[in-house]
Amino acid sequence: MIFSLIMQGNMSRKLHARRIEGIDKNIWVEFSQLAADYKAVNLGQGFPDFSPPHFIQEAFCKALNGGFSKHQYTRAFGHPNLVKILAKFFSRIVGREIDPMEDILVSVGAYQALFCTFQALIDEGDEVIIVEPFFDCYQPMVMMAGGTTCLLDLRLKEGCGPVLSSADWVLSPEELASKFSPRTKAIVINTPNNPLGKVYQQEELHMIADLCIKHDVICISDEVYEWLTYDGTKHVKIASLPGMWERTVTIGSAGKTFSATGWKVGWAMGPGHILKHLKTVHQNSVYHCATAAQEAVAVGSQREYDVFGTEGSYFQQLPKHLHEKRLRLADCLKSVGLKPVLPQGGYFMIADISNLNVDLADPSTKDEPYDYRFVKWLIKEKGLATIPVSAFFSPEHKDEFQKYIRFCFVKNGMFCSYF
Ligand code: PMP
Ligand code: GLN
Repeated sequence: MIFSLIMQGNMSRKLHARRIEGIDKNIWVEFSQLAADYKAVNLGQGFPDFSPPHFIQEAFCKALNGGFSKHQYTRAFGHPNLVKILAKFFSRIVGREIDPMEDILVSVGAYQALFCTFQALIDEGDEVIIVEPFFDCYQPMVMMAGGTTCLLDLRLKEGCGPVLSSADWVLSPEELASKFSPRTKAIVINTPNNPLGKVYQQEELHMIADLCIKHDVICISDEVYEWLTYDGTKHVKIASLPGMWERTVTIGSAGKTFSATGWKVGWAMGPGHILKHLKTVHQNSVYHCATAAQEAVAVGSQREYDVFGTEGSYFQQLPKHLHEKRLRLADCLKSVGLKPVLPQGGYFMIADISNLNVDLADPSTKDEPYDYRFVKWLIKEKGLATIPVSAFFSPEHKDEFQKYIRFCFVKNGMFCSYF
């Protein structure tokens, strides 16, 4: 009897937990499906349409063919070969000795590193400052942890030239300072930023760091696009600034650095006294991520360590390759009347669509934001998939950003076939 009631969906009790209320929609699920349904050229979701470099593919094959151990569980918090090389690599960049066993947690992509961070550090009543636009999962993750978000906009500077750059979007020092309160537990920054491509400059990072130190706040720094910067722009790790290592969790992704998003290898890095709490969440949820993929990333990272700073380094070759695509995409967008914002980093470009007069007659989308309607029209009528930029804003601020859409330029074939 009970079984048949369940099967009929007749349960009288509420099934879902409150923490997931209002977050059932997901931009990637919705728009990736649409792109697939309409067989559109996909410049939407951020993944390369080419393979990872040969050396790391070979390392994966070797791991798979290298005996039983690479097919079995490894150390919960990161395969020893991987945490050792990540620690060695980043010690050189951060300028301090990073302990492979204490200060690093390898996760199922950067997503899981972020999830562990929020679950481990945020409590009911805690406030998290998030800089808008932001990678869409931050806000639901804070909510699922019981916290609340306090949003801070990047604003367009006065007097910008006709071609905008992501550097034209800046933080107001006064506004930033006003967001810190006794309830603030953490601030999330993303540099290079998705979707804007902004790379935070040293002075901006110092401003954030000073406030974190003054108010005893943790900084969660999502740096998954750390090697992708253009025109001489330098990526700086906020964890390397004085007084910041102790209070920063830095998030990274091998998916982005080695063009292997499907491998889902990421990490969180920071002081052992914070990382140990992330490990508690990790050991009680996924336990560890695929051993062979971790071994391959370890071999790839060792290779990058050995050739660091030379022309043979993939971390130099990839941005060089993307730089050309970025300029070409900007030209193509301008030629059809769009106003692109040239990114300093990452592999996305946003463009202002307000010059285009498109008749968005589709009644099924009439209650949606303009950019969502535009992107759906573009997919269905023109066979090109992009992402609406208001998806990277909180519900409160979505309206102001409906005139932008985001293009992904880490594409070879798909890109050439459209433009
Ligand atoms: N952070 C940002 C800013 C991203 O764009 C993404 C998307 N890849 C992630 C985190 C998640 O990365 P991963 O695929 O390694 O889980
Ligand atoms: N980070 C990728 C992007 O911004 C995709 C994330 C996802 O597919 N969930 O396009």
